[in-house]
Amino acid sequence: MSNAVTRWTEVCAAINRAAQEASRPHGDVTLVAVSKTYDGDAIWPVIEAGQRVFGENRVQEAMGKWPALRERWAECSDDPIELHLIGPLQSNKAKDAVATFDVIESIDRDKIAGALAKEMVRQGRMLPCLVQVNTGLEPQKAGIAPQDTVDFVTRCREVHGLKVQGLMCIPPVEEDPTTHFASLAKLADASNLPIRSMGMSGDYESAIAQGATHVRVGSAIFGARGT
Ligand SMILES: *Cc1c(COP(=O)(O)O)cnc(C)c1O
Repeated sequence: MSNAVTRWTEVCAAINRAAQEASRPHGDVTLVAVSKTYDGDAIWPVIEAGQRVFGENRVQEAMGKWPALRERWAECSDDPIELHLIGPLQSNKAKDAVATFDVIESIDRDKIAGALAKEMVRQGRMLPCLVQVNTGLEPQKAGIAPQDTVDFVTRCREVHGLKVQGLMCIPPVEEDPTTHFASLAKLADASNLPIRSMGMSGDYESAIAQGATHVRVGSAIFGARGT
């Protein structure tokens, strides 16, 4: 077994434990395995082991490795892979993003929402979308401000025609993430959104306790990334 598969098994068990402790029904929390910077050879054993949902933060990088992985997997199984875009997006990449990904987690401004919606209609692929919230109001970080989130979700749906199903956040690294997770859950409630994508390698158990439906875990599965 590859090291990644061993660690993936441990992460799955920890997710189930955290979900059980939070009295969440079985299967309520989806693991998004974040495979950015890792190549197809590193990812393949994790697909074979049973992981189906993956996250990538760069459109170009995902285009370079996922079409081949999907093709190879389609020869083995009918159980499809679901690829999530979790990184910031430029509107000139909207076409490639819609063609490459199955879920877009990082919508945070009208320009991107509009460009994606146009491409989804053109390609006949209305993908589920999440709005990224900058819960820590960090100037360098992507995401809509918490106080603008409810209005922006409404605009994404009613003006742009996007299928918004949830919210995503990346809390500030140096702060206790719990309050950020709680505030994302509250905003999702306020917009009646079922999906809350929050929690990474260091804090996914705490995110599950705060109501995460999707945790995005990279290094705890694939190992530390070189920078
Ligand atoms: C890289 C990344 C992750 C995974 O981070 P780890 O700490 O490696 O688990 C999660 N979410 C986003 C948006 C990322 O860019």
